[in-house]
Amino acid sequence: MRPGGIEASLREQGLRMTRQRKILLELLEQSGAHLDADHLYRLARERDPRLNRVTVYRTLKLLKDSGLVDELDLMHHKGEAHYYETRMKQEHAHVVCLRCGRVEEFYGDPLRRMRRQIENHLGFQVVVVRTEAGGYCSHCRAVRARELDQAGYAAPARGSRRRKQ
Ligand SMILES: [Zn+2]
Ligand SMILES: [Zn+2]
Repeated sequence: MRPGGIEASLREQGLRMTRQRKILLELLEQSGAHLDADHLYRLARERDPRLNRVTVYRTLKLLKDSGLVDELDLMHHKGEAHYYETRMKQEHAHVVCLRCGRVEEFYGDPLRRMRRQIENHLGFQVVVVRTEAGGYCSHCRAVRARELDQAGYAAPARGSRRRKQ
């Protein structure tokens, strides 16, 4: 979390601390996960049953517009859903399994390097970078290999061997 916490972050953006803003930012920080609006709404209701859906969605939009919260589509692996996470985390890429929907975060120097290269090469001042990779996690790779095998597909290596014979 940024020094000074949630209240300071809101103040930097010229926003007052309200109960719903505080609840949503706390939920996003504490979960550390990528939650969709409906999930966030349900969690927020547990903290304050008076909150309604419109307020939660409107607050989320405000936090997004003021750059405190990031909106992600995570390779659209579940259709049109959007996911939210706090921007107070260190910059990272999202790596999404297209089969089971598992989301990993990749932190590291390549991202910082890419930002610097974009700034140097294009003379841009980069304020936000969103990097996503889609593929299959190690579990799903194994499952897919079994499925393809059972379906009778020849692996490329086997196919080329057959051609040589
Ligand atoms: Zn997977
Ligand atoms: Zn993330």
